[in-house]
Amino acid sequence: MKKEAKFWKKMDDTKVQCNLCSHNCKINKGKVGICGVRKNENGILYTLIYGSVSSLASDPIEKKPLYHFHPGTYAFSIGTIGCNFKCSHCQNYSISTADTSFPYMKELTPGQVVDLTKQHNCQGVSYTYNEPTIWHEFCLDSAKVVKKAGLYTCYVTNGYISEEPLRELSYYLDAMNIDIKAFNDDFYRKICKSRLEPVLNTCKLAKELGIHIELTYLVIPGYNDSLDEVRKFCKWIVENLDDKTPVHFSRFHPDHDMINVKMTPMETLLKIYEAAKQTGILFPFLGNVFHGKYENTYCPKCGNILIERNSYTIDLEGLNKGKCRKCGYQLPIIINKYIK
Ligand code: SF4
Repeated sequence: MKKEAKFWKKMDDTKVQCNLCSHNCKINKGKVGICGVRKNENGILYTLIYGSVSSLASDPIEKKPLYHFHPGTYAFSIGTIGCNFKCSHCQNYSISTADTSFPYMKELTPGQVVDLTKQHNCQGVSYTYNEPTIWHEFCLDSAKVVKKAGLYTCYVTNGYISEEPLRELSYYLDAMNIDIKAFNDDFYRKICKSRLEPVLNTCKLAKELGIHIELTYLVIPGYNDSLDEVRKFCKWIVENLDDKTPVHFSRFHPDHDMINVKMTPMETLLKIYEAAKQTGILFPFLGNVFHGKYENTYCPKCGNILIERNSYTIDLEGLNKGKCRKCGYQLPIIINKYIK
């Protein structure tokens, strides 16, 4: 659905600038920005996708992945079309590269998002599948009513949102899983057609604004899998965020324009897991490996298993009111109030 956009300014009689994300696109009359879903019509910028949903499902919160945020709950997950990144390895390219002619769209109001969340017995809403930033107007409006209904909200995002919209959203956004595509700007420029620094700035600002954050790093053989790069990334987290930030190192499988790159070897992931721990990350995880050991949360003080995970099945027995049952260590976790 078309609606006047937020965060833009007129440059002259025909050209506008969108400031929703760090691309800051200058858009001529009749054209769309890089994301493909914000259009300059007669000198006014419109979002073309307000309330337009391409995908919806009830997902375990662990699938986002968010491991220290309401574990064991389900998030009503919605996404639209388009993306402000152009990643060669995109795993959701059927929607991220789609335009408004995409045939499977459903129009929802913010109130219907709440109704559907309840009908699906979910405890919150996840804006996911494609980049939620480019859907800002609808995410903001729906997050307001979702929060009012006592449910949680979370983003699965590339972190390219500008400062002002993130500040506005932060009142209604509880958590973000932010993708760090690589810890080098070259990768961002060549593979994603974007830049690393704005993403790192978003991580810092989100933390400052009190949003729960977890990071995901998809390990692609030959592209971002050097231990040196991973150590630099982990050091940055420890120095700029918190050593308690959960970090998910995820296994790559061939997709889109990277169909000829091999799946990440387990050996590489194990080395990265150890390197992350040695660099001071207290809660590293391996994703897409389906090996419980590397999905568990361990107590950094006594080594007890605090949360045991087996794919999307979880066991919170190691915790008592958010503390280690053995040594009393307080795990920085947003424990669910939704599960008795
Ligand atoms: S949201 Fe879209 S139009 Fe706006 S700056 Fe980002 S890519 Fe450009």
